[in-house]
Amino acid sequence: MERARITVFDTTLRDGEQSPGCSMNVQEKLRLAHQLDRLGVDLIEAGFPIASEGDFAAVQAVAAAVRRPIIAGLARASSQDIERAWQALKGAARSRIHVFLATSDIHLHYKLKISRQKCLEQARDSVRMAKSLCADVEFSPEDATRTDHEFLFQVLEAVVEAGATTLNIPDTVGYSMPEEFGELIRSIRKRVPENITISTHCHNDLGLAVANSLAAIAAGARQVECTVNGIGERAGNASLEEIVMAMRVRPDRYPYETGVVAEQLFPSSQLLSDLTGATVQPNKAITGRNAFAHEAGIHQDGMLKNPLTYEIMTPQSVGVPDSRLVLGKHSGRHALAMRCEQMGFQFDRRELDEIYRRFVMLADKIKHVEEHHLRELIQHTRGGSARIPSGNVDWSVVGGAEPSYFPQASTTFRRHRAQCGDA
Ligand SMILES: [Zn+2]
Repeated sequence: MERARITVFDTTLRDGEQSPGCSMNVQEKLRLAHQLDRLGVDLIEAGFPIASEGDFAAVQAVAAAVRRPIIAGLARASSQDIERAWQALKGAARSRIHVFLATSDIHLHYKLKISRQKCLEQARDSVRMAKSLCADVEFSPEDATRTDHEFLFQVLEAVVEAGATTLNIPDTVGYSMPEEFGELIRSIRKRVPENITISTHCHNDLGLAVANSLAAIAAGARQVECTVNGIGERAGNASLEEIVMAMRVRPDRYPYETGVVAEQLFPSSQLLSDLTGATVQPNKAITGRNAFAHEAGIHQDGMLKNPLTYEIMTPQSVGVPDSRLVLGKHSGRHALAMRCEQMGFQFDRRELDEIYRRFVMLADKIKHVEEHHLRELIQHTRGGSARIPSGNVDWSVVGGAEPSYFPQASTTFRRHRAQCGDA
């Protein structure tokens, strides 16, 4: 079956960077932009040029240095904003001006203090101006999901006439529900010409940004706006890695393709965390450090027999070096034996019994048993010989070495198995 192509519009450098604790300087933005290029995104929204000198410089630098993806710059529906965006973008190999204007009554009345009629005219005039500078113009009716539908359709029709080729429908405040958002996208799809791309931009205030984005895709959206690690205003934006992998793991439900190189997902997440210092929550899907960790004994046992028992995708497929069998007190003997083997130790059943008994005592004290703990434990159990020859050992002679040496719990950071394989 032919799969429809979804355009991935990355806004980590704009919406993401706007979020508290995620600001980056020009050099940092450039490094991330190069990584987004390797990741294979179709568009990079590099900033909001009128917002600050730094934003302008970053958009200009990204436009000059990153030549494959389309570079987008954000502008409010005003001539100064659009002119400034164009100045920053014009050096790009391919550029897009992204114009936005709120359309919900609550924003028109309290924030912009303009009538619907004025909003309609301003949207049309600003898109017309952007189109005179740049062939590729996107329009976003901010707070679309709380906008009167008939008025929203009128605005969209007007901006298409004025030259917009992408209509981005933002759930600015993360208010929409998946079925509802899907219906909205479907009703827009019916009303606008085929050659106009419908886009989605969902916020995560109710934890539904990814679900809403997928519902929009199923309803006919062909561009998705998203960010690495789901960073963005308030509770964040739709997570790029989750949308991409949902489509990749479930093509039976979501028969769509993207240009994303999935193996670059984890490296992109890591780079973003390094640059901003904003760490990813451990249980975050795809990129959290526990996303591929298995600690419960029955899970570890299943994983060792066949990873398909507990993994719907491999860690390698998203660029995580290897899945991590975390050794803790819930781990079973099989996982312990496997880890020892990776470290170069082999034990017969009796030896393993003793190692396991001591391992459980240790794990009870320090939660996560690291490789160096295990090595030390083996040494003490064996009475000092690090490399234990396989064969029968008289444990009554070895005996002793009770856990007085057990280190205090110092770190619970769990390394990738591949990184600790120094044996
Ligand atoms: Zn946003």
